[in-house]
Amino acid sequence: MANDCIFCKIVSGEIPSSKVFENESVYAFRDINPMAPVHVLVIPKTHIASADEIDAENATLVAKIFEAIPKIAAAEGLTNGYRVITNCGEDGCQSVKHLHFHLLGGKKLPETLA
Ligand code: 5GP
Ligand code: ZN
Repeated sequence: MANDCIFCKIVSGEIPSSKVFENESVYAFRDINPMAPVHVLVIPKTHIASADEIDAENATLVAKIFEAIPKIAAAEGLTNGYRVITNCGEDGCQSVKHLHFHLLGGKKLPETLA
């Protein structure tokens, strides 16, 4: 666990979360400040700081996240589509430095980014 990483603390249960999915590699929970009717954060249980840290060694974890996403989307009733976003670094406005994918849906999302 990375020191003082809130998402590592969510994985360990030290910080409570509203879990929607879990397997050996992946944890998914509801965003505390939802931007859409469905707003789930999908994260690797192992600490990876951001998309910029993805490499040949940890890419299998990222694949596991993308295997989980359609299952979570189906469980959340997102039959009409959804959006997956990861913010990376300063310019990407990443606020939590543990790789996470926002799964957004449940309404027609705006075409443009903010
Ligand atoms: P970022 O801006 O880094 O892409 O997204 C971080 C997300 O984590 C934000 O949407 C924020 O609402 C969410 N978040 C931050 N702290 C917590 C927390 O303690 N619990 C949950 N469930 N979500 C959090
Ligand atoms: Zn972490």
